[in-house]
Amino acid sequence: MIPKEEKLENYCDARIIARDYVCAKCFGRLNTPILKEISPNTGKEYVGVQCINCGPGTGFVTATYAEHKKDESRRELSEARRNLATIMGIETKAIPIEDAKKIFNFNK
Ligand SMILES: [Zn+2]
Repeated sequence: MIPKEEKLENYCDARIIARDYVCAKCFGRLNTPILKEISPNTGKEYVGVQCINCGPGTGFVTATYAEHKKDESRRELSEARRNLATIMGIETKAIPIEDAKKIFNFNK
């Protein structure tokens, strides 16, 4: 994770951030630099990058990190579903289609 700083001095840096990073809060895409601001103190020009969904102030993480976390969440969801089915006594094994038709009386 890089610092929350969204004001960058270099347009190319901002484009690279927008390409390789996502929002730290929602893992959403960052827009290409849209904000241009001139510091009243230094006179330097800054460009800004922010989340399309959340706006400014969320910070960034790499897209690779976000994908890793999403995969981890999917695995945890799958495990939770299995555990919940076990706790509730729900059969989750697949059965042959012909058996399913008999069980649900779909042969008529
Ligand atoms: Zn976001």
